[in-house]
Amino acid sequence: MREPAKSRPAFGTVVVGGGPAGLTAAIALAGAGVPTALIAGRPRPPDNRTTALLAGSVTALETLAVWQRCQAQAAPLRAMRIVDDTGRLLRAPEVRFEAAEIGLEAFGYNIENHRLIVALAERAREIAALEVITQDAVDIAISTDVVTINLDDGDTVIARLAVGADGGRSRSRKAAGIETEGWSYPQIALTLTLRHSRAHHDISTEFHRASGPFTLVPLPGLRSSLVFVTDPDDAAHIQALPAAALATEIERRAHSIVGKIELEPGRGVFPLKVERARSFGAHRIALVGEAAHVIPPIGAQGLNLGLRDAATIAELVAAAHQVGRDPGSDELIARYQEMRRADVTSRTLAVDLLNRSLLSDFLPLQSARGLGLTLLQHIGPLRRAAMREGVAPAAAQPRLMRGQALSIEQSRK
Ligand SMILES: Cc1cc2nc3c(=O)[nH]c(=O)nc-3n(C[C@H](O)[C@H](O)[C@H](O)COP(=O)(O)OP(=O)(O)OC[C@H]3O[C@@H](n4cnc5c(N)ncnc54)[C@H](O)[C@@H]3O)c2cc1C
Repeated sequence: MREPAKSRPAFGTVVVGGGPAGLTAAIALAGAGVPTALIAGRPRPPDNRTTALLAGSVTALETLAVWQRCQAQAAPLRAMRIVDDTGRLLRAPEVRFEAAEIGLEAFGYNIENHRLIVALAERAREIAALEVITQDAVDIAISTDVVTINLDDGDTVIARLAVGADGGRSRSRKAAGIETEGWSYPQIALTLTLRHSRAHHDISTEFHRASGPFTLVPLPGLRSSLVFVTDPDDAAHIQALPAAALATEIERRAHSIVGKIELEPGRGVFPLKVERARSFGAHRIALVGEAAHVIPPIGAQGLNLGLRDAATIAELVAAAHQVGRDPGSDELIARYQEMRRADVTSRTLAVDLLNRSLLSDFLPLQSARGLGLTLLQHIGPLRRAAMREGVAPAAAQPRLMRGQALSIEQSRK
């Protein structure tokens, strides 16, 4: 590790947080020639989350020369099935989405977060304009011209713009005085990594249960990740089960579609909520990833949104840097907010509606959900439009998601 800098040049940017959104923002910024410091935080134990990276995110990671490093550890998602497992009177038909139907080899790729982070961190270390500092930011102070960040080893980083990528409990957000709004659900997401005896055939299967979706997402080989959303009582019961009994219970709930199940070590527990920053930036701080928005792990949207945030702020700052403008100006931050707001709001509402339609005992809502899924199953153009929008929103596609580099250096990689 290099010595952390005491101060940054006039147009320097600092990224706070070395999760996937922060690393991507830092790589995109520095790769575009913007002198950047990444305050990556002290190493923390990995959780066992995986991410289904949709097509635009994969393209962006490819453009940043990251994907090539971890593609072999990701499994393609060639088809997605939604199975109504509510046991209710009004049940929806099974819906199957095939990537080939919209001319794609795969909707995206599922990868364990810790593997993605390793690939991003390796790439970050290669970029000359990027200084990676493995300390925590302990204090963030904003003045008219700069943001000053104190690190836990006593050093200081000064920049014109701070990109807050420091997760749900963001210190950057607090420093900018940005409040959050949102709500919670009476549900918990349990995450587990499974080994199984039958092939998943690159198909992700979502069993829609009355307490939430139970989703098997392929990993390479005979492995899958499970995101199991359920009510707190059921979650407590499940968590108390010894490994062998838990594996049997999961196999039962998965209707044995992947055969016999064994559990890999590690379990994650995530209470479901929506939490959104009232503004995505203020006072020389722009928020990306979970610092800006947390949504339930349904429909694989969270980090895909976070990567679009990272790509968007990098695009705006790189353009400002090229013409010598202040990257932390109010105008730039207002533009960032304008470019990201609709994408985040529409995805949040879609995930919320889907989740509530499962939880609700209200018959008209159940029948509307059933009707929606029936229409998707039977009307090809509607299904294809939904698939295209799910994979890559028509609006909100920053340049990196379209495979366009932000600089000559990136385009050569
Ligand atoms: C069960 C589950 C399944 C999911 N599945 C998907 C999926 O399939 N597809 C998808 O798109 N999304 C998914 N998500 C969402 C996705 O996991 C998150 O959006 C993503 O991990 C957030 O990344 P981030 O970089 O914004 O935040 P984080 O991963 O929380 O990273 C924040 C980083 O900031 C660091 N940090 C914090 N404070 C400081 C500080 N003071 N100084 C320095 N560093 C600091 C932390 O150490 C951490 O490294 C899922 C989420 C859950 C819970």
